[in-house]
Amino acid sequence: MTTTLKQALKAHFGFDSFRSKLQEDIVKAVVRGDRDVFVCMPTGAGKSLCYQLPAMLAEGITLVISPLIALIQDQVDRLKDLNIPACSINSKLPAGERRLILADLESSSPKLKLLYITPEMVASPSFQPCLTGLCSRGLLSYLAVDEAHCVSQWGHDFRPDYLKLGDLRARLPGVPCLALTATAPKNVQDDILKSLRLQLPLSFASPVFRSNLHYDVIFRELLPNPYVHLHAFITKGCGIVYCRTREGCETVAYQLTKLGVLAKAYHAGLKAGDRIEVQNDWMQGKVLVIVATISFGMGVDKPNVRFVAHWNVAKSLASYYQESGRAGRDGLPSSCRTYYSAKDKEQISFLIRQEVTRKQVSTSTGDLKCMRFYKSQLLCRHATISKFFGDKTPNCAGACDYCSNPKVVRAQIARAAALSTR
Ligand code: ADP
Ligand code: MG
Ligand code: ZN
Repeated sequence: MTTTLKQALKAHFGFDSFRSKLQEDIVKAVVRGDRDVFVCMPTGAGKSLCYQLPAMLAEGITLVISPLIALIQDQVDRLKDLNIPACSINSKLPAGERRLILADLESSSPKLKLLYITPEMVASPSFQPCLTGLCSRGLLSYLAVDEAHCVSQWGHDFRPDYLKLGDLRARLPGVPCLALTATAPKNVQDDILKSLRLQLPLSFASPVFRSNLHYDVIFRELLPNPYVHLHAFITKGCGIVYCRTREGCETVAYQLTKLGVLAKAYHAGLKAGDRIEVQNDWMQGKVLVIVATISFGMGVDKPNVRFVAHWNVAKSLASYYQESGRAGRDGLPSSCRTYYSAKDKEQISFLIRQEVTRKQVSTSTGDLKCMRFYKSQLLCRHATISKFFGDKTPNCAGACDYCSNPKVVRAQIARAAALSTR
């Protein structure tokens, strides 16, 4: 079987080998088709192939759910470049094209292999007969739910329409389901399994621990000049500075540029064209530092990011892991630093309380753990993160400030405490 899989991988996608043993194992499990499958691997690890290759080897059609039309378009374009019959039905599709696709789906042997839709579409009544028709004729090979964390209120990207996928599942008996995500702390994982009604799924997850990332926390209020400090940190190559607000991005970009590093701001307040330009300049290395709000990063796959600095604390430990994890995808040593400030902390707590009221959920333990992580923790940073995601304690070997010099961390906490009681 392995040789035919490899041949198919080469023939359809042009790859000589699997990205990893994990990717190969997942593809094999999906092809076997007897169990639901849950996949958690970091961005860039090659999750799409885990359903695209099995889709090519199956008789029928693979239905793929993805949250954004832009993400879908990008994938469908890539597949079309490879001559793989893929398309998307969405609200923006002209009526004529939509009719053509539906006609193919209703034919006795459809040509299509991969059909991408948004969760809104799943719920649309006009599309239901088509789906049930495919299913009753045994023409649905797999249901793949990409960015599956969107189903969870604990996730950083909750989409209410994802909750309808449980019902969809119920209407497609016998179709194996594959759920994929890059971030899944235990509570999000539980939500995914429950909401998508995965039946005793086979779980595949890369370890959370990434030994090439060095984590540390610096108390901003103890610094004589925080911008000079940040400047010293970022002279290591290309990277991202995350700020909470647009004004924050502008100020930090201005200060860094004044100190001699070309830094550009990226946030929702810029015109779309300017945003794309800043992103491209950074991708191509013309601009080394992008100073961005968290709107920057989803779908961005740049391997040689040497540092990620948080000028303001992240919203939760899950968000922090996701955002800082954009560093070092090439496996080379990279640094992740947070500039903690007590003022920030108050604002974040306020925002979390607001969100809790709005969503009517109780405070996530992740949010609380996150604060401890920055403020008072005398523990390995990697250990805290791994434990939060349900992994065992990793061998940090000095890849965080606490493990490399606990005295410094303790002294910093003591100085901050002295400052706040003055
Ligand atoms: P993810 O969804 O996990 O973030 P993608 O599926 O978008 O990752 O894949 C990331 C990149 O890796 C893509 O450019 C894809 O073509 C590439 N890729 C996937 N599998 C392989 C492989 N076996 N060999 C080489 N490149 C691969
Ligand atoms: Mg993906
Ligand atoms: Zn450590």
